[in-house]
Amino acid sequence: MAIRDVLIIGAGPAGLAMACSLVRQGLSVTVVEKLEESVLAAPPVDGRDIALTFRSRDIMQSLGVWSRLPQAEVATIRGAKVEQEGSPHFLNLMPRAEPDRATENLGFLVPNYCIRQAAYEAAKALEGPDLQLITGKGVVSIDAPASLSTVRLEDGSTLDARLVVAADSRFSASRRHMGIPAHMHDFGREVIVCRMQHEHAGDGVAYECFRWGRTLAVLPMNNNQVSVVMTVKTPDSATIMRMSPEELGREIEAQFDSRLGRMTLVGERHRYPLVAVYARQFHAARFALVGDAAVGMHPVTAHGYNFGLYGVQSLTHEIEKARRSGGDIGGESVLRAYQRIHRRETWAIFTGTNALVKLFTDDRPPARVVRKRLLQVADRVQPLKGWITRHLTDDGSPRKLPRLLPRLR
Ligand SMILES: Cc1cc2nc3c(=O)[nH]c(=O)nc-3n(C[C@H](O)[C@H](O)[C@H](O)COP(=O)(O)OP(=O)(O)OC[C@H]3O[C@@H](n4cnc5c(N)ncnc54)[C@H](O)[C@@H]3O)c2cc1C
Repeated sequence: MAIRDVLIIGAGPAGLAMACSLVRQGLSVTVVEKLEESVLAAPPVDGRDIALTFRSRDIMQSLGVWSRLPQAEVATIRGAKVEQEGSPHFLNLMPRAEPDRATENLGFLVPNYCIRQAAYEAAKALEGPDLQLITGKGVVSIDAPASLSTVRLEDGSTLDARLVVAADSRFSASRRHMGIPAHMHDFGREVIVCRMQHEHAGDGVAYECFRWGRTLAVLPMNNNQVSVVMTVKTPDSATIMRMSPEELGREIEAQFDSRLGRMTLVGERHRYPLVAVYARQFHAARFALVGDAAVGMHPVTAHGYNFGLYGVQSLTHEIEKARRSGGDIGGESVLRAYQRIHRRETWAIFTGTNALVKLFTDDRPPARVVRKRLLQVADRVQPLKGWITRHLTDDGSPRKLPRLLPRLR
């Protein structure tokens, strides 16, 4: 087979977005995915509802993904409230608190399976000489001796490309295969996600409720439904998974102080281990990481796929720059530039999110005091509140990062 410009490992939402982005720039791309194509075409519901920023919406629009989402499944987030059990103070994030912004909401919520399906359909529409999809075969090894990378598949066949991009999840086997270490933080907790139908009309606000021992996020979806995200210690998650639908409905209703009335479980509940991952390098020889393989976020600040899309945008930009100037699209200068930009966009938020999670899951008395005070301060100090809001929405207004966090070594 002819040498491809780029070979992408993994047809998840990041890998497919990367493929669409590069093919739209005129590059030849092969995507290799270990799942069967029938799964990509009709991904199962996985319980995740993904909060997306304005910038992500714009990227998805430019890739032909956004228009393929079932619009009835796209919910808008009108505001966000962060609460702490036992405290009258809360952090209230509303778009109108930002006088320089023209938007009326904070972002969007879309089921993950819809994003995966829309990304598959967008890629499928580009399939042809420039985009080839190989499914039902995993990548087992990568070899990058000099001017080319050679990838070996499970069936023994090999493919050559100028650059290999791995988008094969936060537990990326190809990252390990290329000898790239990663910071990994296991929170010793699990997140359980499910949909609930509620009795009373909602206000379109996303609630993050930090309770002693557990965290509850209630995210507004359409048609009087909310996406419920519970973070619990791993031993407690089995108990929640075993509850009858009625018991679970009553439990969530009680934890949410009956604000939306009776809660009724819709569909299945799903559980995920909470492990945050940050690759120490985003590249090796003729090899780059995107999506969760580069940065696997804790979901509490809802940045994971947003960062995936930002990485797709930055890497495409650097590859395109090299191509236009007749340079090597898989060369070190391209990959270094991508790493510099993507680190700048993600490292502070990754570290800050982990610190926040650590504090808000620490129930010892000193931490309890800090937890309460922090929300109070964040709500009252307008520049800080504006900075948090701008990060959540990423609508193009300036976002200068504070120099408070440790640098990546
Ligand atoms: C509960 C929860 C809530 C979340 N909420 C948000 C949110 O609100 N906002 C947000 O932005 N993000 C959120 N995220 C994060 C988001 O879901 C992920 O960032 C995103 O799905 C990662 O996409 P990906 O393509 O990088 O990886 P994945 O979706 O993991 O896809 C990886 C693909 O690679 C394939 N693969 C693996 N190994 C191989 C191999 N050897 N060969 C070939 N193929 C291979 C896999 O089969 C898979 O298809 C949330 C995550 C969770 C768990």
